[in-house]
Amino acid sequence: MKDIAIIGSGVGGLALSIRMAIKGASVTVFEANSYPGGKLSEINIGNYRFDAGPSLFTLPYLVDELFELSDNENLVTFEYEKLKEICTYFWDDGIRFTVPSSVVDFDSLVHKELGENKGQIIKYLADSSFKYKILNGLFLERSLHLFSTWFSKSALSGYLNLPKMGIFSTLNEHNKRFFKNPKTIQMFNRYATYNGSNAYKTPATMGIIPHLEYNIGAFFPKDGMYGITQSLYNLAISKGVKINFKSRVDEIVIGNGKAKSLVVNGQSTSNFDAIVSNMDVTPTYRNLMPKQKAPNKILNQEKSGSGLIFYWGIKRQFSELGLHNIFFSNNYEEEFKSQFQKNTIYDDPTIYLNVTSKHKTDDAPVGCENWFILINAPANKGQDWDLIIEKTRQNIINKLNSVLKVNLIDFIECEEILDPRSIQIKTSSDQGALYGNSSNNIFSAFLRHPNFSSSIENLFFVGGSVHPGGGIPLALSSAKITSDFLARLL
Ligand code: FAD
Repeated sequence: MKDIAIIGSGVGGLALSIRMAIKGASVTVFEANSYPGGKLSEINIGNYRFDAGPSLFTLPYLVDELFELSDNENLVTFEYEKLKEICTYFWDDGIRFTVPSSVVDFDSLVHKELGENKGQIIKYLADSSFKYKILNGLFLERSLHLFSTWFSKSALSGYLNLPKMGIFSTLNEHNKRFFKNPKTIQMFNRYATYNGSNAYKTPATMGIIPHLEYNIGAFFPKDGMYGITQSLYNLAISKGVKINFKSRVDEIVIGNGKAKSLVVNGQSTSNFDAIVSNMDVTPTYRNLMPKQKAPNKILNQEKSGSGLIFYWGIKRQFSELGLHNIFFSNNYEEEFKSQFQKNTIYDDPTIYLNVTSKHKTDDAPVGCENWFILINAPANKGQDWDLIIEKTRQNIINKLNSVLKVNLIDFIECEEILDPRSIQIKTSSDQGALYGNSSNNIFSAFLRHPNFSSSIENLFFVGGSVHPGGGIPLALSSAKITSDFLARLL
């Protein structure tokens, strides 16, 4: 039996451990924290529970697939529901509406509220679906670093449709071609933030993201987002994976060009047949094997955005809020400029407010709500975060007070804050980036690290900082791709 070590129990590391245990490998995971999940974890404050990081769940089939492969016979379960409402949008001028999950109803709503031509949303989402199908077949579930990918049938279809893929225009330009109302353009520009990019720089190819949310659907796990981690953790354990917590890997030991063993909490381990890093790829090179030649061109790419998160226990309920809510900035272009060029947070930031207690009522005491507020923030470059946080907190409260007509400070009964510094410390993400490298240019997809090392034998990578990219679905896809490479060693 082959021995595989995985550094980190993020969603990518857990999914890979399950896949490899099913294939018959002996898998040991070393996790620095005392809990699994990395960014996909939870926090409890008093009687409130919060999902700590991700809040939007798309492509649940990537989780289901792990249960199907594992012949689990319902020993471990994972349940979720399809949302009937996608998101409630608010603007400062009083316009607000909730987008339903039906594309036809969404189209009618945007026609009525924002004056777009009838059928325009349907056309936009058909284009999004077309692009997604081509990209998915080409590389979202395949390695970009194999000849077979480039000479496959899906690659051929990709080359033929290249002019329609939107590589040479930005997402903002693409959205402006479809819609006339700046509010509709803003709604669709926001999808750049789903992988931490800038709508005014990222290629229109990112227009594939709305396809996931509107055509396929947005979902909510019965036990909250952390339920994904819990189910995958339980499934991994049931398949015999050994998961060691409080086990920080200090070094990947390399001899004769091969990854051999690890140093964990200062102690050497025995040898492994393969070592996989689910830790962000940049600190994997810089901290765990500093003497090896690093792929600096890839590691030094601009990072994706990070986040500033406020977890607030609110002793009141708001009937106008849903699970996902957006309060838009009045100047989106300036907001992206502040984040990516000025490395700060704009004074009128777009506020994302997630309230899981709307669906999972025990997340907050009776009559209360658990507010998760996320503001897109620049990656950590040593800014004066304490100052930025203080100013942004006040700006958020002012904006919410004005739109919701409340005095919010009267209702915040407990608070915790996560910022780019603490994201970096808790998950080892380079500069606290949420999604590894940014996708702010047309070469970004090619400037993500492959799922294997081309210079060190038996060394592999999985998770949101390597191919195919960040976010839960792509981290799960990376586990699939990496498992295909590892299977060759078995
Ligand atoms: P990570 O979550 O990065 O975990 C890596 C693990 O490795 C950690 O547990 C860490 O402790 C461990 N580790 C690191 N170094 C070592 C070491 N030396 N030794 C041992 N262990 C180590 N995605 C979505 O799909 N939808 C969303 O709505 C969404 N929103 C987000 C909001 C926030 C605030 C954040 C932080 C992220 C969000 N994301 C979202 C992104 C998503 O969470 C990540 O892309 C995904 O969870 C990354 O998984 P991963 O497998 O790369 O591992």
